[in-house]
Amino acid sequence: MTESLAAGVDLGGTKIAFALVDREGAVLDMQRTPTLASEGPAAVLDRIAAGIHALLDEAGRPVAGVGIGSPGHLDPVAGVVHNAVNLGWQGVRVYDELRRRLPPGLPLYLQKDTNASAVGEMLFGAARGARDFVYLAAGTGLGGAAVTGGRLVTGAANNAMEVGHLSLDPDGRLCGCGTRGCAETVVSGLGLLAGVRERGAEFPSSPLSSGPDVTTQAILAAATNGDRLALAVLDDAGRALGEVMAACACLFNPALIVVGGGMGRAAARWLLPVAEREMRRRVFPPAVEGLRIAESEITISAMGAACLVWYDQ
Ligand SMILES: [Zn+2]
Repeated sequence: MTESLAAGVDLGGTKIAFALVDREGAVLDMQRTPTLASEGPAAVLDRIAAGIHALLDEAGRPVAGVGIGSPGHLDPVAGVVHNAVNLGWQGVRVYDELRRRLPPGLPLYLQKDTNASAVGEMLFGAARGARDFVYLAAGTGLGGAAVTGGRLVTGAANNAMEVGHLSLDPDGRLCGCGTRGCAETVVSGLGLLAGVRERGAEFPSSPLSSGPDVTTQAILAAATNGDRLALAVLDDAGRALGEVMAACACLFNPALIVVGGGMGRAAARWLLPVAEREMRRRVFPPAVEGLRIAESEITISAMGAACLVWYDQ
């Protein structure tokens, strides 16, 4: 294959990350720019196109296509982001808009950001060689992707694996989606912060219980030092993650569950053992026999997006 390079764009609420990746998974160039979503979709699309142009210039040889990972509800065939709350986007025609700004004939591939990450793990990360696996990403929220027989499970309207909004407790915390007790109200950076606020009184000796501006990083640092409040909140998150894993294991019988996302990776040493124990408590044993749980190996967010180019070939 002569066109052995792919460009990736990870479109986030605060930043846009770009990567130029070769067919062996080496990252040849990386860029990032603030999203500045408040300036509106046209300005953001201009910045995406400028970043892609910079990668094409850097490549110095043909690029097989551009993969774009986006948050929100989208249509990967039509290339339309129907609704992305973080971006304030409604019905943005990404393919049409970018084609006007990019060299003619350059193939474009749009997917949900978590689907892009899962494809990256399948090609070059923790899921290399796996045909059936689940990817879960805990960051500011909780998202996921499922791959069965080497193909992404998309669902009828590309909303499959919206596990962050699976309610684990209909009387629980109010989620941004309007439902109560969604998994991401517990398994996320915001979930840890809410947990510290709610359970602080049980652990008055914890410095976290009196700190007005606690951060996720502070909670993880406290856990490293054995802080009981931090450990209790991480235990709650681990058990909730285990419930989500149990649902995924029952539905897909994966060989592997890969856990990524900023918070998922940073807190893996606390979350994963608790989650695995909880999952195994809840599932028909043959469905989880041989199931492995692994940490994500792809840390460059735009790399998964670039891999969308090869996923479709
Ligand atoms: Zn929700």
